Formats: sequence, structure tokens, C-alpha cells
Amino acid sequence: MDEEHDASFKQDEGFVYHAKEIAWSRAMRQNALLVLGSATPDVRTFYAAKSGTLPILYLPKRVSGRDLPPIEMVNTRERQSMSEAVTLLSLKSLNALTETVRAGQQAVVLINRRGYAPHLYCLDCGKTEHCPHCEIALTFHKARGRLVCHYCGYSKPYPSPCSNCGSAAFLPMGEGTERLAEELSTYFGQRVLRLDRDSTVKPGRMESILKSFANQEAQILVGTQMLSKGHHFPKVTLVIAADCDLGLNFPDYRAAERTFQLLIQSAGRAGRGELPGRVFLQTRDVNHYCFHYVLNNDYEGFYQNEIERREKYLYPPFVNLALVRMSYERENEKAPAELKSLGTIMNDIANKQNVKMLGPATSPLSMLRNRYRYQILLKASSWKNIRDTYQIAINKTKIKHMRITLDLDPMNML
Ligand SMILES: [Zn+2]
Ligand SMILES: [Zn+2]
Repeated sequence: MDEEHDASFKQDEGFVYHAKEIAWSRAMRQNALLVLGSATPDVRTFYAAKSGTLPILYLPKRVSGRDLPPIEMVNTRERQSMSEAVTLLSLKSLNALTETVRAGQQAVVLINRRGYAPHLYCLDCGKTEHCPHCEIALTFHKARGRLVCHYCGYSKPYPSPCSNCGSAAFLPMGEGTERLAEELSTYFGQRVLRLDRDSTVKPGRMESILKSFANQEAQILVGTQMLSKGHHFPKVTLVIAADCDLGLNFPDYRAAERTFQLLIQSAGRAGRGELPGRVFLQTRDVNHYCFHYVLNNDYEGFYQNEIERREKYLYPPFVNLALVRMSYERENEKAPAELKSLGTIMNDIANKQNVKMLGPATSPLSMLRNRYRYQILLKASSWKNIRDTYQIAINKTKIKHMRITLDLDPMNML
């Protein structure tokens, strides 16, 4: 299994499974060999290797035979260091990009947020437009002329009056791929390619965008994390990660691990040909420990720091973690009492089963598709105790008004 750390191996809707566990179990049954490969292994895989559960083999050199290109941190907290023409980029990053373009080379700019602007502020009442079904801010998609909910797909035309006060004066706030590509195209007076979920809806579009870039039909490619892995563009000498804070501030115990993996992978996109590469990481939090290890391409150092934190705060691999997700329709008046009663009952059982329970708490995405969402975290040294706690509690509560699921080892904490 190559890139074994990749979260997309977990299927968490419908039939829930992790492809790594399936591979593991099939290999056991067939008496086959399973090789887990990665330059930035899953912290738990590496822990298993370090503690002797799995044998480990090192590949000391990168496939290309070259080291990762030099990485520079760019502090975006100081306003005067930011450019005005391309609002998301600092002057330093924009200068590097200008040098690259003038030299006839190529650059990749990453931002993990699609659309034009993630918030649309009403200038009269100060509210932002939200999805009526999800309580999530609607993202402005300029080319489509619509405001879109990225969770349920709801959309409405733009411009249309403010749903709170009826005003028609809006200020788009924040940046997504669409706005960044537009600003760069205006600034450099040339075509800028964009790769994200919106630009690749039609079959074959992704391949054709990547092909255009490989044929050097454009010098700049803007994209989401879809761009971080796999692709080989020998003329790319500059990679800019425009907003590293997005990932670091994710409400997930793996936020630092994911960010470390993503940044190392992204840095590997620069300087794959004859010309040396450069990498710029923009952040408001230059002292975050994650960056220290990214700068030195030091996986083991990162791992050491991360594993100590996991042990201290009791997260995997030091405990088994499960997420109970509950949701109910917003009109359902009986559900809140049921949720409360389930919470009390489950807490009692958890105590008896040696399971640590946190919650019920509102999920980070508190309403989706007209359903309120809540969650409970269960931590224990045995999976059986977690499953028993869940099963006994739902049998006792006799749930009628909620949808409830148990996700063992959740990859998505939203
Ligand atoms: Zn929605
Ligand atoms: Zn308004």
C-alpha cells in the first residue's frame, strides 16, 4: 500500500471500513506479505514499527536522488508584509513568483479552499450569508454567479438580496482558489490554470488541466491539496503553500500530522527536473512545532514530538478512539430529551466498562441538511468495551428520534 498514511483509504459514509485494515486482514488469511510505504508514515504505523510490532525498512534516499528543496517560512501576520494586488500572498512570495515567471519557469500555488470567497459580508447588517439547511457559510463562486453550500449542494443566485436585511451591498471576504487564480491572472497578465473539485467536475477535465500545465501552456497552477501528490512537473521550481493555518487549526487530533504530511508532499513538487526548487510556506503561526520539522524534513523529530503529545493527552495509538455521531431533524421536538437520556445512560455504562466518555457535544458542523448534529467520544484500551458500551446504551435508550452511528477509529472528526 503506497502512501499508507493517506486518510482517503478510510471510507466513512455508508459501509464504513479502512482499506488498510482490509488489506491487513486479507494478507493474514492468504499468508501474503503487506508492505506499507510512505515518506511520512501514519504516526500509528511508525509507532508499531518503533515498538517492534512491525518490521521496518528504510529507504534513505529519495527516488529522485535529490534532497527536498529549501523551504522558507513566510509570516503573514504582519499586514504591511502582504501584497495588495494578490491579497493572499505576501510581498516575499509574490516576488519569488515574479522571478519564477520571468525566468520562464513554472510555479504551483496551493490553497485548500475552493470557490471565490468563503464569506460574503452584508455591508448593511454585518451578517454573512449561510446555508438555510446547514448553518454553514455559503461560498461565493464568481464564475457560476452563485452562492454554494459545500456540504449539501444548496445554492442561490448572486447577486440576490441579503437574507437578513434585504440589502444588496456585499463584501467578499477571504480567498479561495477561484479568487487567487483570478488575481494572479490579472497581476501577471497571463493565463493561470486552476485545479480543484469545481474545475474538474466533467470527466477528463482533471487530466486535460494537468496536461496543459505539463505542456507549459501556463506558468502558474493554482490548486487544492489534490495537487500535492503524485504529479511530476519537471519545470516547476516554486511551490507556495498560501495558507498553512487552515489545516493546523482543524478540530482533529491529527491536525498537525496531516499538515506535516501535506507540506512535505507539497514541497516535493518543486525542483523535480534539472533546475533547483524553492518552497514558501505562509502562516500566521511561524513558531508552531510542526513547521520546525517540515523545514528540516525531519519525520522522526516530528514523530517524537507528536507521540509524546498523544501519550500525554491520551490519543491513538495509546488508546482506542471511537466517535458516536447523532443527528436529528430540526423540527423534531422529542429528540433533545432522547439525546440527553442517551448521554446519561451511556455515561453510566461507560464508567462500568472502563471507557472514558466525552460529550454529548455539538459537532463542529452543528447542522447539516436540516439535521442538528451531536457527538460523543469514547476512549478505552479495548475495542470490545467500546462496542459493548455503545450497544448496551442504545438498547436501553430505545432510540426513536435520532440517527446514530458508531465510527471506530474516526478519520473525520467533523
Ligand atoms: Zn447546506
Ligand atoms: Zn444584510
